[in-house]
Amino acid sequence: MKLLLHCCCAPCSVSCVKMLREEKIEPEIFFFNPNIHPFTEYRERRECIKKFADNENLKLAYAEEEYGLREFLKEITSTLNEHPAKFSETHIMGFPAAHLTEFPTIQSQRAARCEKCYRMRIEKTAAFAAENSFTAFTTTLLISPYQNHDAIKKTAQEAAEKYGIDFLYRDFRPLFREGQAISRESGFYMQKYCGCVFSEEERYLIEKKELKSEGAQDSQTRSTDGLKIYSQNSSSASSNPCENIFNRISLLIGNDNLEKLKKTSVLVFGAGGVGSWAAEALARSGIGRIGIIDNDIVCPSNINRQAEATTLTLGKFKASCLKARLLEINPECQVTSYNKIFSRENENNFDIDKTDYVIDAIDSLNHKLDLIEKAAASNTTLFSSMGMALKLDSSLIKASSIWKTEGCSLARLVRQGLRKRKFTGDFTAVYSSEEVIHSSPYETNSGKESRTIKSEVSGAENTNNVFPASMQNNDSFDNFLGNNKKRVNGSIVTVTGAAGLLLAGLVIRHAINK
Ligand code: SF4
Repeated sequence: MKLLLHCCCAPCSVSCVKMLREEKIEPEIFFFNPNIHPFTEYRERRECIKKFADNENLKLAYAEEEYGLREFLKEITSTLNEHPAKFSETHIMGFPAAHLTEFPTIQSQRAARCEKCYRMRIEKTAAFAAENSFTAFTTTLLISPYQNHDAIKKTAQEAAEKYGIDFLYRDFRPLFREGQAISRESGFYMQKYCGCVFSEEERYLIEKKELKSEGAQDSQTRSTDGLKIYSQNSSSASSNPCENIFNRISLLIGNDNLEKLKKTSVLVFGAGGVGSWAAEALARSGIGRIGIIDNDIVCPSNINRQAEATTLTLGKFKASCLKARLLEINPECQVTSYNKIFSRENENNFDIDKTDYVIDAIDSLNHKLDLIEKAAASNTTLFSSMGMALKLDSSLIKASSIWKTEGCSLARLVRQGLRKRKFTGDFTAVYSSEEVIHSSPYETNSGKESRTIKSEVSGAENTNNVFPASMQNNDSFDNFLGNNKKRVNGSIVTVTGAAGLLLAGLVIRHAINK
């Protein structure tokens, strides 16, 4: 495929290119962004794209040299007559619409203006691609969680039709934080606002509103990448939002031990009620490298106990969502997500041998046994979670050798399975000795597995975090919505989360006592 990639800036392009290359697609770069003002800002972003293309050995198909302020203003002038918002949006340019309720005219002008802005840039890309024998085009605008993703997608589809060229849709959004972190490391220019003169003004309106609502004394502002930054005239000025994240840990364990944690790597298998909290605690504690392995997607019934599960992440891969969350907590953490299930067949894909710790938070008995065997045969330290469903008392969660666990039926099955496999090793298991609570599990209407959606998504190499079309109108989608109920066990975050935190604590204590 000969792909033309419209790039809005280097930080947004880094991860898009990485993902395309992983798919064996070598894009050519197209820079056309008359929406970037003033001239010095435009020049900064354009030169940075050239530097990025050079660093990455990417072909620069086109980079507009002319500054497009006038062209842009002509295009969007009509939107200045837009009247107060007639619609409600949850987010506008990344900021909760609630932040702008004092500015309804600005809100509606912005929505209209952004759509014109997308069209200008995307149509130019599609036309260039068609004229220059490309087979498809796409845009890095699809990586930003702060843009109107659906409007961009729709505009690109329409442009594809208009110019008779394919549009390659990818939801790059889960990679946004990673791209920002790599760009910071690479020293790329990091912009503070979307691009046009209006967005430059709006960030101050938002700042004003935030300050007012928070009654803030210091001068916090919010940059367009969603991180809090501190203005230079603040007495406690710091341009690095990550600088003070680990102050309290360092006071507790000392800088040397904090450094040890930064050099520590952990793989977390299972991003459910236990694994997600283990991963979150590791990120909040300064662990330097975290891998998350889970092929499941977020369902409504996960929200009660899984860190990455919210009403905004429904239908997305858990591992990708958790990665995005960890990078919001600590952008300097190296986080890798694998939207896969661990099995004998792919056990060598995760570099277990090169990882300091493995946290097993897998539900499936066979995969759990496979992982235990693989970890025991590798140069790593394993901490494994046993069953946390049907339990309510978090004070009964303990850690001990797997052979000394008691009162946990999953631990019993694990011990039996390991004996059958002639496993003679040992590892620490986290389990609850609480007697199970016999609630009344509910049955399905149809008897079908409620996780059909999982196998469909994982089997279909779906990297877009969207439902396959086949799922939209069938039982799987009903299952996702919880309409076809199967026999499930009750569980609560006060128990699953406590187990996850205990697992993370075991890793941390082991790492600093090494
Ligand atoms: S806010 Fe951003 S997307 Fe909207 S018009 Fe300005 S530059 Fe374009």
